[in-house]
Amino acid sequence: MNGSCHCGAVKFTFDGRPTRLVQCNCSICRRLSPLWAHGPEGKITVYAAPDATIAYVWGDKGLAFHTCKTCGCTTHWAGLEETSPQNMAANMRMCDPKEIRDIPVRLFDGAESWTFLG
Ligand SMILES: [Zn+2]
Repeated sequence: MNGSCHCGAVKFTFDGRPTRLVQCNCSICRRLSPLWAHGPEGKITVYAAPDATIAYVWGDKGLAFHTCKTCGCTTHWAGLEETSPQNMAANMRMCDPKEIRDIPVRLFDGAESWTFLG
């Protein structure tokens, strides 16, 4: 599946079709409202100039949220620690809505319990 930010400066491909999309309520996801499909890296390939995104890193600095500098869409996050087995996720809201509408959405409680709620 293919995703793109609004202006097209940041594109990604997700190899195959995700079995689920993850909606998270952590401090940043509740503000951005992405639908995540997780890597590992290799399943997700990002196509963007190195300076095309703002890489937002906070807290324990384990990952970076990437947002297009031009149009403001948050397209993916990438782990900053090489040991992480699942070190990337793509925001599938960047994809054609018709392609993702039948994929089940699971709610992840990233705010408190760090478990799936449904
Ligand atoms: Zn853009």
